[in-house]
Amino acid sequence: MGLMDGKRGVIFGVANNRSIAWGVAQQLNEAGAELAFTYLNEALEKRVRPLAESLGSKVILPCDVGSDDEIAAVFKELEQQWGTIDFVVHAVAFANRDELKKPFTLTSREGFALAMDISAYSLVAMTRYAQPLMSDGGSIVTMSYLGAMMAVPGYGVMGVAKAALESSVRYLAAELGSQKIRVNAVSAGPIKTLAASGVGNFNEKLHIMETRSPLRRTVSQEEVGKASLYLLSDLASGVTGEVHYVDGGFNISAE
Ligand code: NAD
Repeated sequence: MGLMDGKRGVIFGVANNRSIAWGVAQQLNEAGAELAFTYLNEALEKRVRPLAESLGSKVILPCDVGSDDEIAAVFKELEQQWGTIDFVVHAVAFANRDELKKPFTLTSREGFALAMDISAYSLVAMTRYAQPLMSDGGSIVTMSYLGAMMAVPGYGVMGVAKAALESSVRYLAAELGSQKIRVNAVSAGPIKTLAASGVGNFNEKLHIMETRSPLRRTVSQEEVGKASLYLLSDLASGVTGEVHYVDGGFNISAE
C-alpha cells in the first residue's frame, strides 16, 4: 500500500524536469497520490503537460498566482473534478533578476512588492481557496530558503519574501489547525533550477554546500521531494507551522 493511496492534490510550480516541484510530484506519484498540475503560461505548458501526463495526470490547468481569479479558477475546477482535495504543493517564487543583482538598499518599491506578491502572498491566497475543499483536513507545503532567516549574499529581496512566506506558514497553521489543515515549509539547499539561475553567485553557493555543509554535498530534488512527501502524508500528522530544512545540515553548522 502506498503512503498516499487515495489522496489527491495539486502542484503549483513545475516549469521543467529540473523543478523542485517535479521532484515532489515524482515522490507523491510513487506513493500513490493522484495529481493535478498548474503551469504559468503557454510556453511552459509545452513542458509541463507531457511531464504531468507521464504521471497519469488528467487535470492540468493554467495559473498565474499573481491573480486571485486564476487561483480561484483552479480550485473551482478541482472541486468540479474531485469534490475535495488532500494536499497543495506551493513551489512558486519570482523576483526580477535586476533586483537580485543590485545592492539591497536599491531594491525598487515595485520590485519589492512583486517579489512579495508572487513568492509570499500567493500562499495565503492559495490556502484561502484550498480550505473549502479540505473538509476532511489537509496538508499544504511551500518551499523556502535559508535567506529567510539570514542575509545571504545575492538573495536580497527574495530573502525578505521568504521571511514573509515562513511567517505566513505560521499564521496559516495557527488559524487552520483546528480544521485539521496543516501548513509547513521545506527550506531547501541550493539546487540548479530555472529560478536559481537568477540568484547571484549561485555556483559559489553550491560549492560552499559541497565543502562546508555537514553532509559535504548538495541536496537533490528527490531529497526535497521525500521530505515534502513526509509533510504531506499522515506520517507528519502532528507537524504544522514548521520550517523543515533539507540542506545537509548547513543551517546548523557551516565550518
Ligand atoms: P523553477 O524555476 O523550476 O520553479 C519556479 C516556478 O515558479 C516555475 O514553475 C515558475 O513557472 C513559477 N512561477 C513564477 N512566477 C509565477 C507566477 N506568477 N504564477 C505562477 N507560477 C509562477 O525553480 P525551483 O528552484 O524549483 O523553485 C521552486 C521553489 O523552490 C521556489 O519557491 C524557490 O524559491 C524555492 N527554492 C529553490 C531553491 C533552489 O536552489 N533552486 C532553494 C530553496 C527554495
